[in-house]
Amino acid sequence: MEKLKVLFATSEAVPFAKTGGLADVAGSLPKALAKLGVDARVIMPKYRSVKAGGGETAIDGVKVYLVENDDYFNRKELYGDKFGDYSDNLERFAFFSRQVLERCIKENFRPDIIHCNDWHTALIPVYLNTVYKYDPFFENTRTLFTIHNIAYQGCFQKEEFPKTGLDWALFHIHYFEFYGQMNLMKAGIVYSDAVSTVSPTYAKEILTKEYGCGLEGVLQTKKDNLYGILNGIDYGVWNPATDTKIEKRYTVETLDDKYINKEALQKELGLKVDCDIPMIGMISRLADQKGMDILARVINDILSMKVQFVLLGTGDHKYHVLLEKMAKAHQKNTSVNLRFDAVLAEKIYAASDLFLIPSRYEPCGLSQMISFKYGTVPVARKTGGLKDSISDYDLKTKQGTGFMFEEYAPEALFSAVRRALTAGQHRSAWRELVAKVMRLDFSWDVSAREYVKLYNRIRP
Ligand code: ADP
Repeated sequence: MEKLKVLFATSEAVPFAKTGGLADVAGSLPKALAKLGVDARVIMPKYRSVKAGGGETAIDGVKVYLVENDDYFNRKELYGDKFGDYSDNLERFAFFSRQVLERCIKENFRPDIIHCNDWHTALIPVYLNTVYKYDPFFENTRTLFTIHNIAYQGCFQKEEFPKTGLDWALFHIHYFEFYGQMNLMKAGIVYSDAVSTVSPTYAKEILTKEYGCGLEGVLQTKKDNLYGILNGIDYGVWNPATDTKIEKRYTVETLDDKYINKEALQKELGLKVDCDIPMIGMISRLADQKGMDILARVINDILSMKVQFVLLGTGDHKYHVLLEKMAKAHQKNTSVNLRFDAVLAEKIYAASDLFLIPSRYEPCGLSQMISFKYGTVPVARKTGGLKDSISDYDLKTKQGTGFMFEEYAPEALFSAVRRALTAGQHRSAWRELVAKVMRLDFSWDVSAREYVKLYNRIRP
């Protein structure tokens, strides 16, 4: 039988360009698909950060087509600078989306599935079903549109609509029109053969007013073709047994060595060197989504207990100010690091006992999976992918893998932290819990199979 052919269209991919979780997925899912015998290829813009010579490169043997246009993509950042989004983002990604289809023709690659991701690629299913509708080249090509975060929809002013090259008839409430503006994600959802998102719970949540960001109605109409598949992580990248950035590598069998990392980080960050003080880590974009507002309201209570708090993150200015103030007030047991730092991140995953993820919503979340691998137990809100990957720990039955809270409220977060600290006092049970989470498997193997099943369901 001929191989299933999948073209993964993305605006970012590790190791070439990254601003968020999508890049991790694009850099690892196609590899996992190739392992399952899929002819998987990737297509992305050739940004300045992509160092390849010509119009093509590869990720561990997976072919990556690069769409070139220096005016659009040879820039310092991917989507915008300190003044905000680039003003020509619609033109840039409309161009990219057209080029994805043109490149297929040029390469004589007839994908069974074009796997589109987020608003940047949402015009692909639209073009395929309008401009290329009668093109026999794409007769057997179907589209899957994956939503990585529904809060980012690609909304533009109505006046910009002609830049898509599409007929004004499509500026209609059933397609692009969204409260007087044009909305690319909306049109992508309407025109794709199936829609997916990055966890089963988020797939249900986005059907509701609370989480759907205005697109819940459109998604309701696609409900029978809406799927949730949990992301995986690449253990070739995230693994304390092979990590060269941390003080001392470790496995479940050499668990004591985790605490060498803890002492090393305490020393490095100027905290009291004492393994008995529980260390709470947090690595996050500092945005409302990530639960910073409820954390701000209980952080003083948390820090007045016998704990150390190590934070790494960048984002909204208001949270920078708040965290700096908090760090000043609690110098003894706090280390606040307001920057992006991949090396410090790995050290924090390795050194911490607990990892805080109080998100308001979380499509999938990768940091809880990374934490598990490093033997760091998550304290997280029961939402989206967090709910699908963490189960609540019960000290009596020893069941569970983390400490969850449901209500989005400071008291609920505080009580989950307290439960975790109490559990930590039961040394042997805690050790068992740490060993258990390290053995959990969130590699791509399972999820890539789910995608193959889904591709096969929607192809003709
Ligand atoms: P999101 O994509 O919403 O930001 P995820 O949990 O899916 O959240 O992925 C975040 C990834 O980015 C994780 O790998 C996390 O370790 C990393 N990360 C976030 N902030 C920083 C930072 N300031 N420095 C280094 N890594 C970070």
